[in-house]
Amino acid sequence: MQDATITDKLKEECGVFGAFGKDASLAELAYYGIFSLQHRGQESAGIAVSDGSSIASYKGQGLISDVFTKEVIFDLTRENDKVAVAHTRYSTAGAKGVINAQPLVAQYLNGGIALAHNGNLVNAKRIRRDLEKEGYLFQTDSDTECILNILAKNKYRGHVSALGEVVRLAEGAYSLAMIYDGKLIGLRDPAGIRPLCIGKKNDTWIIASESCALTTIGAELIRDVLPGELVVIDESGLSSYILSDKSEKGGLCIFEYIYFARPDTTINNKSVYLLRHKMGQQLAKEAPVEADIVTPVPDSGRSAAVGYAQASNIPFTEGLIKNRYVARTFITPEQSEREIKVRLKLSPIPEVFKDKRVVLVDDSIVRGTTIKSLINIIKDAGAKEVHVRISSPPYVSPCYYGIDTPDSENLAAAIFTPEEIRDNVGADSLHYLSLDGLLESVGGERSDYCNACFTKNYFAGRVENE
Ligand code: AMP
Repeated sequence: MQDATITDKLKEECGVFGAFGKDASLAELAYYGIFSLQHRGQESAGIAVSDGSSIASYKGQGLISDVFTKEVIFDLTRENDKVAVAHTRYSTAGAKGVINAQPLVAQYLNGGIALAHNGNLVNAKRIRRDLEKEGYLFQTDSDTECILNILAKNKYRGHVSALGEVVRLAEGAYSLAMIYDGKLIGLRDPAGIRPLCIGKKNDTWIIASESCALTTIGAELIRDVLPGELVVIDESGLSSYILSDKSEKGGLCIFEYIYFARPDTTINNKSVYLLRHKMGQQLAKEAPVEADIVTPVPDSGRSAAVGYAQASNIPFTEGLIKNRYVARTFITPEQSEREIKVRLKLSPIPEVFKDKRVVLVDDSIVRGTTIKSLINIIKDAGAKEVHVRISSPPYVSPCYYGIDTPDSENLAAAIFTPEEIRDNVGADSLHYLSLDGLLESVGGERSDYCNACFTKNYFAGRVENE
């Protein structure tokens, strides 16, 4: 749509993982765990392990398979280790660099901490300024360091009380996995905006952003960490503390169900794949069209496209082939580069599209680059008509709670009406799923979810600049 400018604000998308137990190599387990969470962040990764007294860690920039060689995992495999945490992270330009990579590791008051955070604190600047006035030092520009320093300040009170201070002071979204004095800690903000679940593999406890990480390592999903819940795992097992009785309006980020989580993940006992499938079915009900084939934008539109095809009795057909070696297009700074990246990533099968009326399904339109390029590609390949169906409502406002999105001026739906977007991207028709239709698909009320990107209802606050 418009020329995009990359923001220099710190925004993060992340995956966290933790393990406590006597597994032969906790570092290896953590590696496989975050490997399955790679979709949640592709910029840097880290693993920390502890035997209860010392913490060893390794962090680097790049994909998990680039950061962690066999030798690094071997070095992180120490005989007496009992706890590990790991992190994978993506942030926008300006906040890059290994200095911001996690887990953040610190030693203080005869103990150590390694902290992995998914989410974004909206009042980080205020917390930081208050702590700096008291003499606390910051080495990164990450909001996560605020949590570390709140814990340092309150450590003498014991871990439950210190973590209670985090819940009292921090606003916004946080799902944490941390090593704290040799224990594995999991903590979720009072609304539970980002997911976090508990699993078990034999005697080893696991905490992970998504259940797909449990499946990969052969662990069983026990349950989700509850909103506002602290779980402390040590040799005596798992203890649970509900640290917040705040009755927040809002809850899990609904975009986790739409796009962000992996389809083989289960959140709140709901299969992400099945919900996306329902969104597609609902979309077919709300926005039917006469067409010859339904084709997905791989991979983000696939589950909804299957649902749309089934509900509309139009054959589901793969028409765009993905080059699996190209990273997500969304993260490229320049608009023209983005378009090239779409073409590098997805290419058409002309025989599928020739003379066809195509329903093209994707989960969302952010800037509009992907869909515009794909319509061109599909029409160049001979399609007669391209009807765009989006399995979520118009994305009108940025996320302040841990999903990287452009500012409003670069969000297509913040500036243009659906009809203007249709015209701009060259579609024959374009429809979004309604918010009611989305809620019908995922189950529950508006107030059960964070849907600020569609409604501007920032119930957990907006990012404070001072
Ligand atoms: P755009 O090309 O800017 O309209 O981006 C839309 C595409 O990016 C869709 O295919 C989405 O699946 C995907 N997408 C949506 N949100 C994000 C995000 N936060 N990070 C990366 N990709 C995204």
